[in-house]
Amino acid sequence: MGKGSNVQKAQAARERNQKKMGKSDEERKAAQAKSKADAAAFMCLACRQTFMANARPPLLYQHVIAKHPAGTDPASCFPQLKDFDPNDPKGEKKPPAGGAGGPVKPKKTNKKKDDNLDALLDAGLGGNKKKGGKK
Ligand SMILES: [Zn+2]
Repeated sequence: MGKGSNVQKAQAARERNQKKMGKSDEERKAAQAKSKADAAAFMCLACRQTFMANARPPLLYQHVIAKHPAGTDPASCFPQLKDFDPNDPKGEKKPPAGGAGGPVKPKKTNKKKDDNLDALLDAGLGGNKKKGGKK
């Protein structure tokens, strides 16, 4: 029992798969639409030029500089450039959120060393002075 239905099921499944594969036109359209959307992921609001999804803010900024009058607000072309700093495209110059200002150097130790050095120099100079006999 059931042998025939299994074969039928398998055949139906195969047909379904073939139908699926037959949908490649739709899939192609979907892929095209997606790549189209990717290709126009960014659009300059001023001149409507589009940029790929992988365009980085410096590239968009370059467009603003190259295509639009000096002084154009980059954010008026690409809202995503609102926080873009052309002098700091990677945000590396921004101070850390903590604002600690880096590790604190052990200044006391350095000063002691300097003091010791001064003391040594003084002693040496003193010795020389003694030798010079000016006092
Ligand atoms: Zn533009």
